Amino acid sequence: MAASDLLIKGFLETSFLDWDGKIVSVVFLPNCNFRCPFCHNAALVLHPDTLAGVPVGRVIAFLKEHTDFIDGVCVTGGEPALHAGRGLVEFIAELKKMNLLVKLDTNGTDPDLLERLYKDKMLDFVAMDVKGPLDGRYDKLSGVKSDLAKIKRSIGLIMDSGVDYEFRTTIVPNLLYDRDLEDLAKEIKGAKKFVLQQFDHRDTLDPSLSNCEPYSAEKLKEMAEISGRYVKNVVIRGK
Ligand code: SF4
Repeated sequence: MAASDLLIKGFLETSFLDWDGKIVSVVFLPNCNFRCPFCHNAALVLHPDTLAGVPVGRVIAFLKEHTDFIDGVCVTGGEPALHAGRGLVEFIAELKKMNLLVKLDTNGTDPDLLERLYKDKMLDFVAMDVKGPLDGRYDKLSGVKSDLAKIKRSIGLIMDSGVDYEFRTTIVPNLLYDRDLEDLAKEIKGAKKFVLQQFDHRDTLDPSLSNCEPYSAEKLKEMAEISGRYVKNVVIRGK
């Protein structure tokens, strides 16, 4: 496989929001092995064929032209790891050749890929979604039968990598309560950063969540305090 084989279904030339303190381009890769009911990328996850592709050459040409301005690239999805054997590794290698920083967003289901990318020094930041406590409760948040052993292995690799990272969880009312969050935070005890993402009930993969009101800002603060017993740096993201 070559970098040019990578299937890209979205390209944001410039973002100030996807990597704290960095100006990045964002590439969106299709498909996902999860079906999180609160997902906002339904088209990318369920119907990627309806989205126009973005030629890798166009992305690379833009980045080459703007190396003075763009710090790096955020590779997101869908689940980027599904493209491990389909040009993803080669694409990241191209970015590194251009001295660009690389951030990978992942649901942590492919620890082998993470291990390989860390070994080859191809990552500068990893943001991993941890959907919920790492037990039977995970499946209702991921929407599939989850391989928890793989997810736990990814968490361990990320924490031991020496590369910057964050774990993040979308706080969905009716799916995540105080006790769930505390159990989750225990699983990532000692992590560098834990982001609690406010749930947004618009355009969710499971339409029944459109009636679900997000927790209040005060409630999220309370949950951040609970998480703070296990992770020092807990951040609330979203309104
Ligand atoms: S992991 Fe969940 S939220 Fe992320 S793209 Fe897949 S289905 Fe959507």
